[in-house]
Amino acid sequence: MVKQTIQIFARVKPTKKPTADYSVDCEEQGSNLEFMVPRDLADGFINNKRENYKFRFQKVFDQRASQEEIFETIAKPVADNVLAGYNGTIFAYGQTGSGKTFTITGGAEHYNDRGIIPRTLSYLYHHFSKDSSMIYTTQISYLEIYNEAGYDLLNPQHEASRLEDLPRVTLMEDSDQNIHLKNLSLQQSANEEEALDLLFLGDTNRMIAETPMNEASTRSHCIFTIHLCSKEPGSAMVRCSKLHLVDLAGSERVGKTGVGGQILTEAKYINLSLHYLEQVIIALSEKNRSHIPYRNSMMTSVLRDSLGGNCMTTMIATVSVERKNIAESMSTCRFAQRVALIKNDPLLNEELDPALLIGRLKKEIQSLKEELALVTGEQRSDKLTQEEIQQLEKQVNVYLEDPDCEVTLDLGPDMRKIHFCFSLLKVKVQERSCSQNGVSNGSSPSLMGMSDGEERKSHAELQKLRDTLTHRDNEISILVNMLKREKRKVQDVTSQIAQLHNQNPSTYSSSWSPPKPLQAEESEKCDTSIDYTHIHHLITRKRVPELSVGQQAAFEVFLRDHEDRLTIEDNRAVLQQRFVEAKTLGEQVYQIRIRVNELKTQLKIRRKQMAAQVLTGNQTESESDSVEERILNQIEEEKKNYKITSGYLKGLKTEIEHLQLMREKAKVKLQKDFENWWTQEGARLQGHSAENTESSPSHVSPLSCMFTRNNSPKVDDTDSQERRQREQTSFSSREQRALPSADLSFTSIPLIGDKQTDADIQAFIRARHNLLNNTVCCSLP
Ligand code: ADP
Ligand code: MG
Repeated sequence: MVKQTIQIFARVKPTKKPTADYSVDCEEQGSNLEFMVPRDLADGFINNKRENYKFRFQKVFDQRASQEEIFETIAKPVADNVLAGYNGTIFAYGQTGSGKTFTITGGAEHYNDRGIIPRTLSYLYHHFSKDSSMIYTTQISYLEIYNEAGYDLLNPQHEASRLEDLPRVTLMEDSDQNIHLKNLSLQQSANEEEALDLLFLGDTNRMIAETPMNEASTRSHCIFTIHLCSKEPGSAMVRCSKLHLVDLAGSERVGKTGVGGQILTEAKYINLSLHYLEQVIIALSEKNRSHIPYRNSMMTSVLRDSLGGNCMTTMIATVSVERKNIAESMSTCRFAQRVALIKNDPLLNEELDPALLIGRLKKEIQSLKEELALVTGEQRSDKLTQEEIQQLEKQVNVYLEDPDCEVTLDLGPDMRKIHFCFSLLKVKVQERSCSQNGVSNGSSPSLMGMSDGEERKSHAELQKLRDTLTHRDNEISILVNMLKREKRKVQDVTSQIAQLHNQNPSTYSSSWSPPKPLQAEESEKCDTSIDYTHIHHLITRKRVPELSVGQQAAFEVFLRDHEDRLTIEDNRAVLQQRFVEAKTLGEQVYQIRIRVNELKTQLKIRRKQMAAQVLTGNQTESESDSVEERILNQIEEEKKNYKITSGYLKGLKTEIEHLQLMREKAKVKLQKDFENWWTQEGARLQGHSAENTESSPSHVSPLSCMFTRNNSPKVDDTDSQERRQREQTSFSSREQRALPSADLSFTSIPLIGDKQTDADIQAFIRARHNLLNNTVCCSLP
């Protein structure tokens, strides 16, 4: 990427108070922010000063600009560059109260007030989930610099109630003059939620750690950094980039605040560090400056890369246009104009992963050794190991299956391997030609009047029809059997009830009618306890292409009687309960966040009030404030609460995932059991029918019916008989046993004894019998 200057933007904070005369005019290439200052206000008595002050920015966002707009225009391009492997920095600069924190982090009340940090996190994680061609890892750090000392806002081991309780971060410089931050924790964040949790933790620590009499947030710099690494799967090249999102201390001048004591010391420090920032920026904007005073302050050292180094940097000047703030706002704009002169030098942060590099080099050494062996003629004479042989077979198969004509079989310089592969290829070629000859020799003589192709086709169709019929007959037999069993069950229950009724007629009403309502009730009960259709849907979707209507009916009964039914029901109930619990906990976590935000606001107000009282002399600095202590305690309490509740929630999520996996497993088992049962039942019934056929040819199962056809005059001719014999020899032996030569006799069908059902079965058999005679006879001339 070419050198580019730091991009500068301005944002005007909305206000209801009277504003100075200002205007924003947007052009295609940039915008101007202009202040019109009356002569008498410009500078005392001398009236020859300029009236209009015009500052040019990439874009100026006026009062009504939304957070969304700010993100889209300012942050998204930087985030895109970070994704591409370049470093990025966005920093907000402006006087206290001009909207730096609102722009970088966001407002606490409304979801729409989310600032650049949460929106950027969301954007990045969304990108990761969409882009499966790369593997991304992210880490987060959050550093606060106050009075030239660094503090880690994310260290989970510390329960900070004062800034000094947080781990101190110090600067280290390596021999290449690279800056490292010692003690700054890098927290892994696998998803957006975790990253937002970290931001929330850091902000809360930042809030709690404020010094009692001052708002550290206005006097400290905060740097939220997203460390991003990406690489293509299998590649040794890794890209690592950093995105700094910086909320600087208020830029107001000490002279104006006019305070003494502790505050002055702090203000001096803050100004000192912003003063050093200014010096660095001036040095960078001047041509031919060899020395840039980065080391003068911690902040400039940390942001060294972002200022004139390997980074794409963007500055947001936040300004207030209220009359009293015009001088500060103009000074902010002047600062921005100087920043705009700095040229940065972004580089693609790409390097080889050492571990992968070592692997690659090892491979290279091996292949060089082999090459050397080939050149020096030192060939190995020992036999190939079993493992090597398997590997070579695999390689040859891959080679043969690859449709690409240019593909090569890479065997190295080992002649043993080359010989082996050649003989393997020879065997394969021979096998292939044998099997081709076999097919043509083994084909049966053509049917009369049919070409070879047509004959094969009609045979295949016939076979397909037979298979379908076998399956349907199986289905009918199973269902008829099930119906019988169900009927028997109902009869048993009926007779038991009748017995009871006879023993104790008074307990039962005479109008009781058992079978049907009972069945209906039973099935209803089952339906509410297990969502059959859902399970069924999942199963069919997963493994079985489609269940026939009969199989579906059988599956439902099978499921009802299955031994695992209760376990599945129990798991389902637990899962539902866990979902409800997770929802409640999620709600609680959300509520705690809201409460903490409210407490933070209360604390802010209280501290302001106390500071005002100290200034007016109503109170001394050292006096402790019980109200503030109470609020701090409450925040502390809520923080503990938050930790516990979100801990529970995490545990619950793991449990839910586990339960869901268990449910999936149970479903697969159920499906397998059903398939086995179905096959066994089919086989059992066929065995049954074969026995019946052998012992009494007149008694056939429905399964056998499909192979029975009428002795019509057509099939009497010898040709047809021969053909039939040929067809029959192509059936499996099991199917052959199910092939009776006798006519279909309706008395041979297993009936269940229920008038209506039996009539239906008979009608069905008759219909299919007719159909069978027609179609089969037609297809067999
Ligand atoms: P700073 O961090 O520069 O001291 P803040 O971001 O804390 O200033 O802003 C001061 C107040 O003004 C806060 O209450 C904030 O919510 C509000 N504020 C700042 N900018 C905006 C804006 N663009 N829209 C609405 N409210 C804003
Ligand atoms: Mg702030």
